[in-house]
Amino acid sequence: MKYRYLIALGSNQPHHRYGNPRQVLAATLQQLDCKSVKLLSASSVIESAPLGPSSRRYANAAVLVKTRLSPDDLLSQLQHIEDKFGRNRRGQRWGPRVLDLDIVLWSEGAFASPDLIIPHPEFRRRSFVLTPALDVAPAWRDPITGLKLRQLHFRLTRRLTIPHRLP
Ligand code: ATP
Ligand code: CA
Ligand code: CA
Repeated sequence: MKYRYLIALGSNQPHHRYGNPRQVLAATLQQLDCKSVKLLSASSVIESAPLGPSSRRYANAAVLVKTRLSPDDLLSQLQHIEDKFGRNRRGQRWGPRVLDLDIVLWSEGAFASPDLIIPHPEFRRRSFVLTPALDVAPAWRDPITGLKLRQLHFRLTRRLTIPHRLP
């Protein structure tokens, strides 16, 4: 198994068979662990406020996997799993969806193809990604900023105010 990947999981719509978003993520873990992708560890599930036009709450989690799949091949596999959970690709971005699987980091650093950017461009600003990610890979370094996930999380969640210098 050549590569390691950090994957972010999100759900804010129940599935008729699997149940509520939390249960959707639990079922996703089983789908993720297959012949070509080995699940190394999974975070606990957190719930967070919605982003964008959707009014539902999100369930989020993060997993660490190892696989020989290239980033583009892993993305195809993740999209296949999203489809199995009935995700409608014509739906609006950030709208309600049964399952969203994003690749956040991989062991080889940065990657870009027409369909995929790694690290995920928004992950440093999203506590619903960083908080679960801390469970599984607190010391993983973002290749762009050089900061560990725990440092990125600290930077995002502590509102540090810079003292004004008196004249
Ligand atoms: P966001 O990317 O801001 O979290 P989203 O997950 O709602 O938004 P989607 O509609 O799920 O966006 O995906 C849009 C496209 O983003 C995908 O078809 C995929 O090709 C592309 N993409 C680019 N980088 C990544 C990545 N790191 N992980 C997953 N998809 C990515
Ligand atoms: Ca996403
Ligand atoms: Ca996505």
